[in-house]
Amino acid sequence: MVLSVFKSGDELFNQGVDLVKRKEYAKARKNFERTIEKGGREAQLARVYIDMIDACLDNNNPARFVKLATSLEGMKEGFEFGLTEVDPARVAVECRLLADRVTVARMSGNLEEKGNKLLDIARKYQSQIGNDAIVISGIVGIQVNSGIKEALYVQAWGYESLASAAVMADPKRAAELLQNSLACRKQLGEDGRDVTNLIKAYSESAKCWICGRPSTGRGVHFLTMSSEVTPFMRKADEDSVLKSAPSDFGSVYVCKACYTSVSRRADEISKVYYDRAIQEMRAMEARLQAEIRSVTIMARR
Ligand SMILES: [Zn+2]
Repeated sequence: MVLSVFKSGDELFNQGVDLVKRKEYAKARKNFERTIEKGGREAQLARVYIDMIDACLDNNNPARFVKLATSLEGMKEGFEFGLTEVDPARVAVECRLLADRVTVARMSGNLEEKGNKLLDIARKYQSQIGNDAIVISGIVGIQVNSGIKEALYVQAWGYESLASAAVMADPKRAAELLQNSLACRKQLGEDGRDVTNLIKAYSESAKCWICGRPSTGRGVHFLTMSSEVTPFMRKADEDSVLKSAPSDFGSVYVCKACYTSVSRRADEISKVYYDRAIQEMRAMEARLQAEIRSVTIMARR
């Protein structure tokens, strides 16, 4: 009797392994649960299989990869998952890195901390995985990269995050950090156009047309405002080293401080006009309704 129970557990396990090969994960998971309940010989491996399936079915959840890493670290021998040969110690390392990467990628508060953490993860991909392909990616159905390639992606994000953190206080530093990101993207075979445009914008300097202060970082520390620059005024701007308007003179450069003070004041003024217009509309509506009422009463008489 006892023997047949064990056999049944093992049968369920073998069936589960076949189901994994066919990528029928939900069915396979049930088989492995029952293998554990029945105490099959492969109960420990069944637990690992369940954690692997959970990671496959929920491959954007870092907690799944942490759990899988822990169960893999308890395994001594390699095994097959579907058609993939799994070296438990190695895949455990990949799971921890992936969990860190997904967690840090979601951070939104402190961009400097996020950037530094990403650079740290990139170094680990380089040193711990290197030229080998990342096995767990293929298993859970995400893009398979080598450790080096993954390191380059994560490094590029890291520098971009650090640049976003730096740009408000030091746009030149932000442009330098983006140069590092661009180097990574070029190595990955990307054209890096977005990064190049950002470097150009962050490196550009201008003089505010309104207050005359110099500033660096187009789109961040100075902006363009639609304007009409007369030919007489153009001459003076063309002669100065730091421009206060783009070459077509259809707009002027305005520093962030002037820009926000003008737009906030304009908002306040338009709010006053808006409130007044609404008040007048309501008064008119009341008058019209009173007139409609009196016409109706007259009609009834
Ligand atoms: Zn200004």
